[in-house]
Amino acid sequence: GATIGILGGGQLGRMLSVAAARLGFRTHIFEPGANPPAADVAHACTTAAYDDVAALTAFAQSVDVITYEFENIPTEALDILEAITPIHPNREALRISQDRLTEKNFLTGLGLQTAPYADIPDAAALTAALDTIGTPSILKTRRFGYDGKGQARLTSPEDAAQAIADMAGAPALLEGFVDFSIEVSVIATRSASGDVACYDPGENVHRAGILHTTTVPARLSASLRTDAVLLAARILNALDYVGVMGVELFVTPSGLIVNEIAPRVHNSGHWTQNGCAVDQFEQHIRAVAGWPLGDGQRHSDVVMENLIGDDMDRVPELAATRDTALHLYGKAEVKPGRKMGHVNRIIR
Ligand code: ATP
Ligand code: MG
Ligand code: MG
Repeated sequence: GATIGILGGGQLGRMLSVAAARLGFRTHIFEPGANPPAADVAHACTTAAYDDVAALTAFAQSVDVITYEFENIPTEALDILEAITPIHPNREALRISQDRLTEKNFLTGLGLQTAPYADIPDAAALTAALDTIGTPSILKTRRFGYDGKGQARLTSPEDAAQAIADMAGAPALLEGFVDFSIEVSVIATRSASGDVACYDPGENVHRAGILHTTTVPARLSASLRTDAVLLAARILNALDYVGVMGVELFVTPSGLIVNEIAPRVHNSGHWTQNGCAVDQFEQHIRAVAGWPLGDGQRHSDVVMENLIGDDMDRVPELAATRDTALHLYGKAEVKPGRKMGHVNRIIR
């Protein structure tokens, strides 16, 4: 069987490896951190930094195709890898989604709605942008933010100095606050032959900036459901994308507003493990391996809940509950805010 290289050894890499193994593939993880969750279930794991040219070269030579579970891979590392082995999703998808400004420009260029935004290289730019965008608004670092990290909310222009300080010198983006009714996401997949399939949109609830639950089906009208799927397909087609992408959306009276895109399997797609014949992890493996896409129809209503930090104390009880599927990541150390696992509840 072929070997799939995965950049990143977190829970997403772990669940991709499990799905790959089920289809007869081997996986090889590349991860700088020690004891990555994916290493337990992968065929091989290279522990090395992204500037280790010899390790990157050997990794690329040992696999047939490369994919990734996070978007912040240094460009120089990608250059080395891609010269040896193809990478899916492609470089353009990574380049665009690594930077919130590039991403917003790309989305608006496709004719999609986003929050009003402005590039904020310095304090003077924030003062100017607050005249047009106003408050409430959110200042976000352009790069490396996740789980709501690297964000400062402004409720009045007096919050500007503190918000700039919170960015710690990093280039930032100001976004107008979107008054949404609900948040939904579309998990979309595009195959190497250009077929696009979308999972039923999920409704997302965040707590303290971190995804708390995803519920399917989302409370969306038929027409918004269609809009969501068409919009996601437009994004994947524009990028000539191969693999799974998460598209986060705000639902507003003026339609769907794109919050952000993630060029990888997505936390809000974990419900597919127990709601569909073929889940997002297998779908991603199929796409990057050049297979046809599988059956992603929802066969059950599901509520996915993340198990974060001390939520792990609930595992014994959850393990004894019917219609409940536990997915634990094997992380040794429990930390506040750390994603330790998730639970999919089947709703009958
Ligand atoms: P992720 O872990 O999904 O990558 P992130 O750190 O990139 O998260 P965002 O998705 O930008 O952060 O924001 C986290 C949450 O904050 C959103 O899901 C939404 O609930 C809220 N939020 C972000 N931007 C806005 C906005 N412009 N208007 C209203 N709410 C927002
Ligand atoms: Mg994000
Ligand atoms: Mg997000």
